[in-house]
Amino acid sequence: MTLRNCPVCDTQDATPVPEYSRDEWDISACDSCGHVYLRNPPGYGALVEDFAWEKTYVDEHTRRLEERPLTYRLDLATRARHSWFRKPLHVRQAAWFKAGNLLNVGCGDTTDWFQGFTPFGIEISKALAEVSDANMRALGGFCVHGPGATAIGEFDENFFDGIIMRSYLEHEEEPLTVLKGAARALKPEGAIYVRVPNYNALNRHISGPKWCGFRYPDHVNYFTVPDLKKIAAQAGLVVSLLNPIRLPFDDNINALLRRAA
Ligand SMILES: [Zn+2]
Repeated sequence: MTLRNCPVCDTQDATPVPEYSRDEWDISACDSCGHVYLRNPPGYGALVEDFAWEKTYVDEHTRRLEERPLTYRLDLATRARHSWFRKPLHVRQAAWFKAGNLLNVGCGDTTDWFQGFTPFGIEISKALAEVSDANMRALGGFCVHGPGATAIGEFDENFFDGIIMRSYLEHEEEPLTVLKGAARALKPEGAIYVRVPNYNALNRHISGPKWCGFRYPDHVNYFTVPDLKKIAAQAGLVVSLLNPIRLPFDDNINALLRRAA
C-alpha cells in the first residue's frame, strides 16, 4: 500500500504515533510540520461503499459503548451542553453567509441547513447523494455524487456565497485540492465554514487514544489551528476562528475561511 504524503506540507517522511494507531491504520506525525494524519487511508472507492459514513458511524458507536460504556454514555447524555448557548443554525448561517448559493461539501442527506438558501451539495456516498439531489433540485440546486477533490471542480468560478465543510475536512484525503477548488468556486466576498476535530483540545491530551476525535479509518487528517491556517494559506484563504476563547476546551475547531485580500 502506498503511504500518503503530509496533506498540509506534502512532505513524505513521517514518524508513526503507535499509541494513536489502531489495527492496520497508521497514524503518523509529519517530520517537517508535525501534522498528524492517517498515512494509509482506505481510498475513495472504499468510502463509497465499505466505509461509508452512515455505516462506520454505527460501528464506532458500538465500539465506544463496549470500550468505555460509562464515560461514553455520560458524554452522549450531556452532548446538548455544547449547544446550550448557541443560536439556531439558520441564525448563525445568516451571520456567516449572504443569502444566495450555498454549497455543503459532504452534505449527507441532511436538510436543516437549506433554510433561506439555494442548496448545492457534494456527497461521496451514492445512496445519500441521490436523496440530497432530489431534495435540492426541488429548490433550484443539485447534489454532485463523488469525492470532494474532483466534484468541487464541477461548479462555476465565483458561484457560491457560502460553502459549508462541517465535519468534512478530517475525512478528505486531498484537503488542499478541495480548499483550492472551494476558493475558486467562492464569490470574492463569500465565506467557507469549517468545523474539524481540534487535535490540540485539552480533552485529547487527557483522554489519549480514547479521545472522541479519533475515528478509524475515516478520519484521515487531525488538524490543529496552525495546521488549518497553513493549509488554508496555500489555497489563498485566511482563517478566522469562531471559538477562539474556549478553543482549548473544545473538541472542534470552528472557523470561517475567506479569500485573502
Ligand atoms: Zn507536513
